[in-house]
Amino acid sequence: MAKINDNYLKLKAGYLFPEIGRRVRGFAAAHPEAKVIRLGIGDVTQPLTPTILKAFHDAVDDLAQASSFMGYGPEQGYDFLIEAIIEKSYKPLGVELKNTEMFISDGSKCDCANILDIFALDNTVAIGDPVYPVYNDTNVMIGRTGEADEKGYYQGLVYLPCTEENGFMPAFPKERVDMIYLCFPNNPTGAVATKEQLKGWVDYALANDSVILFDAAYEAFITDPSIPHSIYEIEGAKKCAIEFRSFSKTAGFTGVRCGLVVVPEELEGTTSTGGKYSFNKLWLRRQTTKFNGASYPVQKAAAAVYSEAGWKETKENIDYYMENARIIREGLSEAGLTVYGGVNGPYIWLKTPAGLTSWDFFDKLLNECNVVGTPGSGFGPSGEGYFRLSAFGNRDNVIEAVERIKKNLK
Ligand SMILES: *Cc1c(COP(=O)(O)O)cnc(C)c1O
Repeated sequence: MAKINDNYLKLKAGYLFPEIGRRVRGFAAAHPEAKVIRLGIGDVTQPLTPTILKAFHDAVDDLAQASSFMGYGPEQGYDFLIEAIIEKSYKPLGVELKNTEMFISDGSKCDCANILDIFALDNTVAIGDPVYPVYNDTNVMIGRTGEADEKGYYQGLVYLPCTEENGFMPAFPKERVDMIYLCFPNNPTGAVATKEQLKGWVDYALANDSVILFDAAYEAFITDPSIPHSIYEIEGAKKCAIEFRSFSKTAGFTGVRCGLVVVPEELEGTTSTGGKYSFNKLWLRRQTTKFNGASYPVQKAAAAVYSEAGWKETKENIDYYMENARIIREGLSEAGLTVYGGVNGPYIWLKTPAGLTSWDFFDKLLNECNVVGTPGSGFGPSGEGYFRLSAFGNRDNVIEAVERIKKNLK
């Protein structure tokens, strides 16, 4: 009989969202009159903007005529999209990239997972705690770890706690590591990294020959002009960092699917015989073999995000979500809660009051306010005692949820 990849058996069952669903269904069955408001989701709610939608439609129409039909495109993505992103999104940051350094994909979750293909299994890896679970679980699946301990830490990974004490900015690992995942603005804590803090990480990586895997899925939500949007704003980062971006949260593409990876040509790793080799070449080889490109209409729609009208509309949606974030952040503070995030990212990370566990607070919020959020402990052991609310909801619901919290939790 064929053997399975039993690394998968080390994974703990997807527990967080099913358990949230179970508790919400139980509550709704017992209180059919209650209007439950969900501020737990990490999904956007605003529709595609008119300019993006028109580009999407027009590109579908291109497929209807033999004269404009498009079949397989370049595996790395179309130059029209790569050039739009480089010109409109990286150049204004002072970051120069070559077309060959950017790879368009069908989203950043797959990229964060697939990138592991081009790294040796015996590399040591550091991840944040709490963390976007994809970084952790994909390292388990590929066989880089042992079993999880009772807290949920997998043997072989280096966890970097992000807590109130360190301002949700992890300390450098005590032992040297080969790969480090960083996500700023952060999901779930909403924390951002200043130029000086990112420079610290770049300097660490250069000194230790490490590679930073930088997840910038929320860069478009940064409001403070001094906060870097890209790790390549830091000198030397092209020698030590891979950057991931996504159109999902930026432009409402969670159901459309488009993302990108930047793998600079200067970034090198070591071969088993001690030579140097380009990660860019490996990723190109990986993508051309295992991927056939994001769809043409999707890439046309994505390029429209960076048109003048498209960006204006996109920015309005981002501002809408960030106004939600402000309402949640300020309302919760008024209710006496300690809140973090929500200024340069769409997540509010609050400290549970009176020493409640994350799940205790989940139940309290559900029962007393009929509001659903996400227990921080679901993102890692250091998330215990915290709770995530998302700003991606609809304005009226956000206002009502905050009013209920102010009234009931004060
Ligand atoms: C939502 C999200 C992504 C983007 O995922 P897609 O696959 O592009 O939809 C990447 N990283 C983090 C931390 C996220 O929260």
